[in-house]
Amino acid sequence: MTEDYIGRFAPSPTGPLHIGSLVAAVGSYLQAKSKNGKWLVRIEDLDPPREEPGAIDKILRSLEAHGLHWDGEIVYQSRRHEVYEAAIKQLIENNFAYSCTCSRKKLKTSTTPGKFGLIYPGSCRNKTVQHDQKSAIRVLTHNRRIDFFDKRTGEYGQQLESEIGDFIIKRADGFFAYQLAVVIDDAWQKITEVVRGEDLLDNTPRQIHLQKLLDFPTPDYCHLPVVKNELGQKLSKQTHAPALDDRQVAKNLVAALKYLGLQVLNELQQASPEEILAQAARDWKHYY
Ligand code: GLU
Ligand code: ZN
Repeated sequence: MTEDYIGRFAPSPTGPLHIGSLVAAVGSYLQAKSKNGKWLVRIEDLDPPREEPGAIDKILRSLEAHGLHWDGEIVYQSRRHEVYEAAIKQLIENNFAYSCTCSRKKLKTSTTPGKFGLIYPGSCRNKTVQHDQKSAIRVLTHNRRIDFFDKRTGEYGQQLESEIGDFIIKRADGFFAYQLAVVIDDAWQKITEVVRGEDLLDNTPRQIHLQKLLDFPTPDYCHLPVVKNELGQKLSKQTHAPALDDRQVAKNLVAALKYLGLQVLNELQQASPEEILAQAARDWKHYY
């Protein structure tokens, strides 16, 4: 079965790669390559206001510089709007999704904050919305627990309706939500296992819920450790994570591998990134 493995790395082009994103890239790459699988790259350019011009090129060049060569064609979510729109239409027709006209202000005053943000109480579930009214689309949730086994962190589950509420799959400004696009593309690209940062662990029940409603299979999941700064914050553009220096690829790879629990032999630190990764893939037995 191992030859059927398909993994992926799915960066959002909000800025260049940093050591935290390199850990996710290397972890998903090693998991795929140690199983003789394919490793795909998908650019999640769904949210232009948050994107940085030139970031896509920088990310791709940085991956190549680090020996992280992907299989097949790169998928760009910005080119897949029709597919996302068709899925929204299908969900609405099946009464799994509906329009929500609540303003942010109204939600702030009328909803309770939960562990994962404001819990949407379903106010618009049975409302009829005028066609010209600006609205978001939400997907219907329920309270049967959605549990899954994560290969690194173990059992995890949520009751979506009471912990999160009906969540947004298309925003009022017209952009598609990450939850929707990620589920459609993981299915379309036939991803067998999603390997990504642990910051996304609590998004997984929402994604499994959408997979069920859209009749997609659920892949395996493996959430990797997240790199934090001295203040305990996840590295990101918001926390001013420094960009990876592409002139120090061996050093960067050694650091990323350490976060993933792999030691690199001293003599390999002078080796090419491809050699370092090939050795790491042989040593990688982490999350089978
Ligand atoms: N695009 C998301 C990010 O950069 C990752 C999505 C995923 O791996 O599911 O945080
Ligand atoms: Zn509403």
